Amino acid sequence: MKHYFKLLVFVLVIQSCAVTKGAENITVVEAVKMQQAVLDDDLFYKIIKEMEQENRIDWSNGRLDHVNADELSNYNDNASWLIDQYKTIGGYKIDEVFLWRKWNPFSRTTAVTTKCVKSTRLNKHNLDRTKYSILNTLIHERVHSFCVIHPKQNSKGQECDPSYVIGDLAHMLALYRDGKDLRAFENDLCPGLKSKLLEHHIIN
Ligand SMILES: [Zn+2]
Repeated sequence: MKHYFKLLVFVLVIQSCAVTKGAENITVVEAVKMQQAVLDDDLFYKIIKEMEQENRIDWSNGRLDHVNADELSNYNDNASWLIDQYKTIGGYKIDEVFLWRKWNPFSRTTAVTTKCVKSTRLNKHNLDRTKYSILNTLIHERVHSFCVIHPKQNSKGQECDPSYVIGDLAHMLALYRDGKDLRAFENDLCPGLKSKLLEHHIIN
């Protein structure tokens, strides 16, 4: 019994050291600030709305099961509800972002967000990325804060999931607004998003 108690204390100590503040990392701080420019960009919302109208966003497989159905019924479509979440609640504040030392340092996990929880944990071992890539993660994870989930843990095969679509869109739009080379973007894009980016001359 005594050994179990020691083990419990040990695990608690290790766990508490494993999570630190997002403000510690300069790229994370920059990415947190960048969210606002995307959330003030009309083109961001225009593309989401157009994709929704053209049925290019995949809301299937229980993705909205944890969202309040009555609240959702007040909107014309799911995208309008999601846009309103972003407009009223906004992106992450720096004190809502934590850095998490995932046990496996080779894990490609970018972040973990518990559904409906207002904070997120970025994988500390996977922060050697551009501010645009971390922005993508923040915009993606925020969708989980708003209670939307996806059935699988990685993007492969679910590129048209709402959280992947808008994370990738934010990433591309931020690169475009900064006049950066969009070929540096490595993720597989949702085909519906790709055609929108072409249509709006963000990529060519
Ligand atoms: Zn996710």
